[in-house]
Amino acid sequence: MKNRLYQSLFLGITSAIAASASYALITPQNEKQAKMESLATTIAAIPSIYDTTSGFIEQAIQLEQLANLEAPLKPQIIHHTIQEDESFASILSLYDIDKKTFRQITRTNKIGARFKQLKPHTTLTLELDQDYQLKTLIYDADDVNTLVATRNNKQFDIHIESRSLDVQEILTQGTIETSLTVDGKKAGLSAEIIDQLTDKIFAWDIDFSKDLSAGDKFTVIYEETLVEGRRLKTGNILAAEFIIGDKSYSAIRYQNSEGEVTYYSPQGKNVVRETRKPFLRNPIKFARVSSGFNLHRRHPISHRIRAHKGVDYAARNGTPIQATGGGKIIFRGRQSGYGRVVIIEHDEQYKSLYAHLSRFNNQYKLGDTIKQGKTLGYVGQSGAATGPHLHYEFLVNGVHKNPMTVELPQTEIQENKGLLARFQQKARPYINRLNQANSETAIINVDKFFAKKADKL
Ligand SMILES: [Zn+2]
Repeated sequence: MKNRLYQSLFLGITSAIAASASYALITPQNEKQAKMESLATTIAAIPSIYDTTSGFIEQAIQLEQLANLEAPLKPQIIHHTIQEDESFASILSLYDIDKKTFRQITRTNKIGARFKQLKPHTTLTLELDQDYQLKTLIYDADDVNTLVATRNNKQFDIHIESRSLDVQEILTQGTIETSLTVDGKKAGLSAEIIDQLTDKIFAWDIDFSKDLSAGDKFTVIYEETLVEGRRLKTGNILAAEFIIGDKSYSAIRYQNSEGEVTYYSPQGKNVVRETRKPFLRNPIKFARVSSGFNLHRRHPISHRIRAHKGVDYAARNGTPIQATGGGKIIFRGRQSGYGRVVIIEHDEQYKSLYAHLSRFNNQYKLGDTIKQGKTLGYVGQSGAATGPHLHYEFLVNGVHKNPMTVELPQTEIQENKGLLARFQQKARPYINRLNQANSETAIINVDKFFAKKADKL
């Protein structure tokens, strides 16, 4: 496409030359000279043409010869942007570089062979000598490695130049005046960092379209990659905080023992809801387990050996029972020994069952979906029960599992003391830095306040 454009430009210029040449026969030498100079100036003003049209180079030489000008056109360094459909071979041929050169470069060593893996939208730099022979070839293969091929007599010396890469942690702070997009940029945050804040980390806790107002503050600690001291790109957000009115929202990046990376509040609560654990361990907060999962238990009423395929939680009549995971209510009614029962299907794999309820939560009917943590009903002793308690079952692929020990898809740090301690140890320095940054700005603000007062006095 681009080449076609150049081609038409090229044809246009060719006809201009032809016209000038015939015109030259009947005009004085100085007038011809002036026209040629003007044409040469016009062409010189569009240097991108040199970069892509080798045929044009020849034409330019002819033009010079025609005009008898001092050679002003010696394009020698070409920065070629690689197009989708181009290859190393096709680019060389575009600049009239022969197949022998292609073979010499690609067959010298493994580095030379890498010239065959040019990526679209990157730049290949070609340096040509006086005779338009390839002298040097330079290609940034990635952020740190540059391939260099240099002609040395009849062959090429090919090597890689590597730059040093540093990752540093940056703390950036700002105050909202207009929006996070505007004020974040002003504070020096990249678009990627702003996207991470709005779409990933705080997407569930902050409505960025309406919650922020002037004076709210943000602090972000993130990684920045430098190549030889030059900022190359921003990486992961390590910690961030928004102070909205008198509320604070913080998140710290953490990789748990299963290798999953997400963001947690300083209390160990996963703030990224899509990576939140789909199940709570217990359907009742702070309840005592009165009878565990036991496949050989003697039944308290029938006194026969009968498997206890769940866990009993002793709790007062009317204690709320929360859905341990979000899902669809597939049963809500009575089952002889179980009394009032709710069964939730979480997905194809998991089901949870809650029995002996005193009553259901009327907000949820059969077939409704219920979110994790929402109250589905209340503790009672309906069915065969010796006292008020919740009988809770957890099924994986239709098989009863011990709800206390079953391996749940993910673990909420908050619920695991050991994990919480490890997380907080790792998070502490970041929490301290966020707090420190905030107290420093508070001091600055106080200083400003007094400075203003002093102005008025
Ligand atoms: Zn039970």
